[in-house]
Amino acid sequence: MNDKNDAIRNLAIIAHVDHGKTTLVDALLKQGKVFQPHQQVGSLIMDTNPLERERGITILAKNASVSYGGVRINLIDTPGHADFSGEVERVMNMADGCLLLVDAVDGPMPQTTYVLRQALQQDVTPMVVINKIDRPEARVAEVEGLVQDLFLELATRDDHLDFPVLYTSAKQGYASRDSEAPGADMKPLFESILSSVPPPAGDPDAPLQMLVAALDYDTYVGQVCVGRISSGALRPRDTVTVLGPGGAATDHTIEFVFVFHGMERVEVAEAYAGDIVAVTGPEGVSIGDTIASRESPQALPTIAINEPTVRMTFGVNTSPFASRDGRFVTGRHLRERLRRELIHNVALRVEESGNPDRFQVSGRGELHLAILIENMRREGHELAVACPEVIHKTVDGRECEPFEHLSVDVEEAHRGTVMEMLGSRRGTLDDVQPGGPGRTRLDYVIPARALIGLRTEFLSATSGSGLMHHTFSHYAPRLGEEMPRRRGGALIANAPGKALAYALFNLQERGRLLIGPGEEVYEGMVVGIHSRANDLVVNPMKAKQLTNIRAAGSDENILLTPPLSLTLETAMALIERDELVEITPNAIRIRKAQLHEHERRRRARAGTKNRRASA
Ligand code: GDP
Repeated sequence: MNDKNDAIRNLAIIAHVDHGKTTLVDALLKQGKVFQPHQQVGSLIMDTNPLERERGITILAKNASVSYGGVRINLIDTPGHADFSGEVERVMNMADGCLLLVDAVDGPMPQTTYVLRQALQQDVTPMVVINKIDRPEARVAEVEGLVQDLFLELATRDDHLDFPVLYTSAKQGYASRDSEAPGADMKPLFESILSSVPPPAGDPDAPLQMLVAALDYDTYVGQVCVGRISSGALRPRDTVTVLGPGGAATDHTIEFVFVFHGMERVEVAEAYAGDIVAVTGPEGVSIGDTIASRESPQALPTIAINEPTVRMTFGVNTSPFASRDGRFVTGRHLRERLRRELIHNVALRVEESGNPDRFQVSGRGELHLAILIENMRREGHELAVACPEVIHKTVDGRECEPFEHLSVDVEEAHRGTVMEMLGSRRGTLDDVQPGGPGRTRLDYVIPARALIGLRTEFLSATSGSGLMHHTFSHYAPRLGEEMPRRRGGALIANAPGKALAYALFNLQERGRLLIGPGEEVYEGMVVGIHSRANDLVVNPMKAKQLTNIRAAGSDENILLTPPLSLTLETAMALIERDELVEITPNAIRIRKAQLHEHERRRRARAGTKNRRASA
C-alpha cells in the first residue's frame, strides 16, 4: 500500500428507501466541507430518480464523495432490487467497505438483505449505522439485535461479525458511538469510516487495469466509463488498450480523467490505483471490459450479469389516440431511446424485429422492463407493448424454460394464502425461516413465467406488507402447461365515442370495468374484463331509450362500481397474447392488437386453419 491509497476510501451504502440515506449523505457532504464558499448549500439528493421512491427501491447506482481530514470517501449508491442483481455485483466491485443504514424504528428490511449478502460474499468490510435515534419510537437495542441476527445469517467470515455500530440522527446531523448519548456532529462516523474501512489495495506503479463498472453518455464528450482503477495510473492523452469479451483488444486515447468530488465530477491530471474515476476517450466500450496498459494488457475477471429471462415487443403507438399527449411517438424516437438505454442498462437486450416500428426488448424480469417503460412514459414517449413472455432455450435437444429463486417475506397471517398462490403457480418450497417479528420467510424455486403478474397479486394478498425478490436459478425442461393468467375474456368497445354511465351500468353486470363514465374510447379498446372466458364486443356509448316521461342521459339514479384503475404493472399482467398495452404520458389503456372485429375473426380463422394443417 502507499500514501495515495490511504487518502481514499470506497464505501458502498446499503439502505432501504426512507431509512435516511439521502439525509445522511447530505449531512456528510455539508460537514465534510466539500462546498466552496460560493456554492449554494441546498438539499442534495443521491437518488434522483422519482420512480425509485415510488416503488421503494433504488435502481440506479451513482457515485459521489465526501472529504474528511484530507481523505476522500467515495460513496457508492447501491441498487436495492434483485431484478438488477448484475448491478449489485458491479457496484460492490468498486467498494472496500459497505455501510448498512438501518432505521431505528423499522429495523433491517428483507430487500437490503440481498445486497448485504452480495457485499459480504465479495468480501467488502461492513459497518452499521442505526439512524433516526432521535425519534421517540426508536427501539435501538431491539433493532441492533435484529442486525446482529442478520449478520449471523449472512457472514461468510468470522471477522464479518466485528462490524462497528454507530447511532445517528442524520436529520439533526450527529453520530455517536453510544446509543444513549447523542453526539454533536458527524465526526464519530467519519472517524469510524476512516478506521474500519480498509484503504483500497492496488499498486499505482504497476501496469494499468480498470474494470468498467458503469457507463454513461455525454453529448459533448461521448461515452463515459466509470470504474475503480485496480492498478496503475490514468492520465489524459494516455494510450490504453480496451480488452473485451473473447480477447478482443482495441487501442484508444484517454481524453479526460475525472474523480468524484461532492456530487460533481472534477477533471484531474492523474488518478491512481484505488480511486473511482470516470474517463472519456474510448468509444464502443461495454460494461465488464478492462481498460489496460498498452504495454502489458491484462484483462480483469469480468462481472457476470444475469441473463435476461423475459421478452416483450415494444412498438410505436398505433391506436387512434396516438400522438395526443406524447412528444416522442415515432419509430425513430423509440429506436434512439432504446439505444441510449442500452449504454448503461447492462441486463437489457434489444433486437430488431424486421419492422422499423417494433423491437424485441429482453430484460431480467417484468419489473426491469416495467421500470424502463415507466421512465419513457414520464419523458414524454408513447408506445405499445405486447404480452411479456419468458425466453426459452434448447438444452441437450430439450426445450427448457428459466427458473428463479424466489424469496418472499410475509406476515404470519398471510402465509397460507401466499403458499397457496405460489403452489398454484408451480413453485416448489425450498426453505422456511422465521423473518422479522411475526413474519416468515419462504424460499421457492419457481418458473420465471409464474412471476409475470405475480407482484400485483402478491401485494394485494398481503395487503401491501409482503416483500418479494427473485434471482435467476437455472434452465430446466418446461414444467406443465400454461400458467393461469387472466380469468375472463375482454369486453371490447365497438366504436369510438364517450362512455355513458347508463351503458356502463348495464355492462358492469358482465364483468369488471376498466373505464368510467365520460371516458373516451375507440373501436377495439378493451373497456373491461368479461366474467366469462370469451371476448365480447360491447357498446359503452349506448344511451337509454327516450321515453315521454324522462329524458335520455339523466343518470341520477345510476350507481357505478369504480373501475379497476390500470397501472403499468397491472396492465402488463392482464393482457392476453392478442392484446397490447398502450402507454402515453397521461394514459394506460388495453387494446386488441387488431382493432376491427372482422380483422380479429379473419386472424382467428387463419390461426385455426394453420393449426389443423400442422396437426
Ligand atoms: P432515503 O430514502 O433513504 O434517502 O431517506 P431520506 O433521507 O429521504 O429520509 C426519509 C425520511 O426520514 C425523511 O422524511 C427524513 O427527513 C427522515 N429522516 C432521515 N433521517 C432522520 C433522522 O435521523 N431522524 C428523523 N427523525 N428523521 C429522519
